[in-house]
Amino acid sequence: MNNSFVIDGHNDLPWQLLSKFNNQLSKVNLNTLEDTHTNIPKLQKGRVGAQFWAAYVPCDTQGKDAVKRTLEQIDVVHRMCEDYPDVFVFVDSVKGIEDAFHDRKIASLIGVEGAHSIDSSLGTLRTFYMLGVRYMTLTHSCNAPWVDNWRVDSGGDSAENNGISEFGKKVILEMNRLGMIIDLAHVSVKTMKDALEISKAPVIFSHSSAYRVCKHARNVPDEVLQIVKAKNGLVMVNFFNDYVTCSNSANISNVADHFDYIKKVAGIESVGFGGDYDGVPRVPEGLEDVSKYPDLVAELLKRNWTHDELHKALAQNFLRVFREVEKVKNSMSSSPATDDAIEYEKIKSDCRTSYGYDYNTAERQLLGKAVLVLCLVYTLFF
Ligand SMILES: [Zn+2]
Repeated sequence: MNNSFVIDGHNDLPWQLLSKFNNQLSKVNLNTLEDTHTNIPKLQKGRVGAQFWAAYVPCDTQGKDAVKRTLEQIDVVHRMCEDYPDVFVFVDSVKGIEDAFHDRKIASLIGVEGAHSIDSSLGTLRTFYMLGVRYMTLTHSCNAPWVDNWRVDSGGDSAENNGISEFGKKVILEMNRLGMIIDLAHVSVKTMKDALEISKAPVIFSHSSAYRVCKHARNVPDEVLQIVKAKNGLVMVNFFNDYVTCSNSANISNVADHFDYIKKVAGIESVGFGGDYDGVPRVPEGLEDVSKYPDLVAELLKRNWTHDELHKALAQNFLRVFREVEKVKNSMSSSPATDDAIEYEKIKSDCRTSYGYDYNTAERQLLGKAVLVLCLVYTLFF
């Protein structure tokens, strides 16, 4: 790892900062922070070169204060980078990651976890992009008004959108146009297949493992791994015990089994790291915190992974996907922003106003018919 840092797809330190300190960074020292998987010395020991920090807010914020809370999680990542300028640098591009590697700083990127965070609003999606968000996981563990989550497959939720709805297709294409990566961790299998078909750019699973190795609906089934391979996408392996062994306990070798399996089915180009540190209550023996990535690399070397293969899994595969996403953005730069809005009925609630929807299509059609009838009456009788 002297020649390669790890790019990790998902870390929930921002959630820890909210739940432990209400985002008051003045009360935290990230050099000495204990009882989290992540702190600065651990990141440095783990050779972490780039990290997607999750701007995660729970599903119970959906339709309530999800957007505001997501903004606050985006803000806390920016402030963390400002408070530790010798360690972190906020970046939003391939070039930014490469420059950070060169400067020996941890490239810090933001991913938003779940469509509830954009509240079915393309304007909000675009604003998040402007604030530096570079992936959106299409769902967390709940459906949104245009997309279904993994719990549909485990029987926890019912399918409401049969994968991705017509409006959802527009969200995917707008993400392509913006240059925001589509993340399929947490979504239903139908949503995975729909997104892989609709997206013009390769997609990622920022923190998911192989379903064949542990039959949990959060993991990626073989049929999807094959499409990921065909579409040059990436599965960044999750270390959560429950997704690694489908039980409470796991070890480093169990995690390596997922790397071997995804490499076998989807190819070496489609495997990466997505530890899910600080977002899960249990992690495997030998992978206790973010300092342990080199131990996993050592385990893969023992399994005859070549240096070239490891460099791909550590960083090159992600950089390839992100470069392709940026290329698709450039190819769509002459397309205007999508100005569609979701049907009001899909989002109607006491918690929101209806500005812009008041003079809706149905009322307009009714008014049109009334005018027509009046004109006819006038023509006939006067
Ligand atoms: Zn997650």
